[in-house]
Order: sequence, then structure tokens, then C-alpha cells
Amino acid sequence: MGERMLRIGVVSCCWKLENGQPYHLVSEEYIQAVQSLGALPLLIPALGPDLPVGQVLDSVDGLLLTGSLSNIEPRHYLGQPHPHAFTDPARDATALPLIRAAVAAGVPLFGICRGFQEMNVAFGGSLCQAIHQTPGRLDHREIPGDMDSMYQLAHEIRFAPGGLLQRWYGKDRERVNSLHHQGIEKLAPALAAEAYAPDGLVEAIRVKDAASFALGVQWHPEWRLQEQRLSQTLFSAFREASQIRRQTRARL
Ligand code: MN
Repeated sequence: MGERMLRIGVVSCCWKLENGQPYHLVSEEYIQAVQSLGALPLLIPALGPDLPVGQVLDSVDGLLLTGSLSNIEPRHYLGQPHPHAFTDPARDATALPLIRAAVAAGVPLFGICRGFQEMNVAFGGSLCQAIHQTPGRLDHREIPGDMDSMYQLAHEIRFAPGGLLQRWYGKDRERVNSLHHQGIEKLAPALAAEAYAPDGLVEAIRVKDAASFALGVQWHPEWRLQEQRLSQTLFSAFREASQIRRQTRARL
């Protein structure tokens, strides 16, 4: 009997589309990124408190938190609500407890963009809602135009000396895309910075005491991930951790 496919849980967003009905959805870029690992993406509905967290974590080998156009409701980090912000309370209510439970259970966790910000908020950090309006910060928003413009490499990051990313990647710096107007303000005490933008903004994090891979990045490594070695490094490490998780579970 062959080994069963690696299962990666992907947390869904919950958006009201034009007909006013809520839909649970995941952008195809993330689904394809998981498929490129030879893994099966299992979409997790944004059920909030109704999600059986333990059972969900029991059925996946790893957990991917996607980027999204929506913002985390500022009340989760005691921030001021923004009047025009596009929020997704169902995703907040699903992702934040799931992140804490995944880390506690040793389930590999990879957060991208909104997912990276969720990791910080889940562990008690806060967000800046408009980096481009903050003195001394760069404008981290996407370059307007088509997808190639939006996802072009936009700024350098330097890896934290002695961090996981520096070790895995074997370089001190790299260029990444940047499609965010929010970012980490106060880093949660449970997290360590793994990379910084030139303006000092934290661009990658890890959970310090996590038993497994628990990493987040502010940029989008899922975008054409075959074209950048750094993206491949990240997803390969996530796959390896998920494979180890699958083996460990098989022995239980
Ligand atoms: Mn950036």
C-alpha cells in the first residue's frame, strides 16, 4: 500500500458575493501551490466557533493560511476600526483560534500575508493599518496594473542573523513582492522576526517555541513559486515538516 497523499488544510475566507450570499472560498494560487507539493488541499470552511478544531487538526498534516483582500478586524488587537475596511469576521473567528491550536498540537503552520498577520494577532501582537501613512516607512502597496505589475519584486528583505530563513536559504538578503497596506506594529512576544524590509518592517516571523514548522511571511511566495528559489525553499520546508507530521501520526 502506497503512502496516502499529504493533506494540507487551507483556511477559507467567507465573502458575500454580488447576490448577497456568503461563499467560503480560497484563491486558486494557494490551491495550486499546495498541489505543486504533491499534496491535497483540504479547504476548511470559515465556521468560526462551530469548527471542530481538534478534529480538523487531526485530519491534516499541515495548515496553510492564505493572503486575502480582507483585513483582520482591529478589535482583535485593540485597534481603532477603520470605516472603509473590508473585513471577514468569519475568517478571523476561524483562523485565530485554529492558529493557536495548531501550534499547540505541533501541526506545521505556514502563514502568508493575511495569514502572517493573523499569526501575530493570534499571539497578542498588533497591526499597523496604513504603513504608507507612517513616517519612516516605505509604501508596501502593490504597483498598480496587471498581475505581473502587482506581483513584481518590490523591495529587499534581509534575514535575521542566525534565523531559520537565513540558514535554509543560505543568503543574507533577497528581493520579494509587496502587496500589503497593513503590517506588524507590535510583534507578539511568542514570535521572532525572521526577515525585515529596508524600513525595518517585519516581513517574516516564526513561533519561537513551536514543535514544528510555524512560519509566516508578509510577501506572496505562492505567486509563480517555481520562479523564485526563496519561494521554493519555504514551501519545501513546509512540505518536509508536513511529511514528518504524517509519519508521526501514522505511528500513533
Ligand atoms: Mn513588503
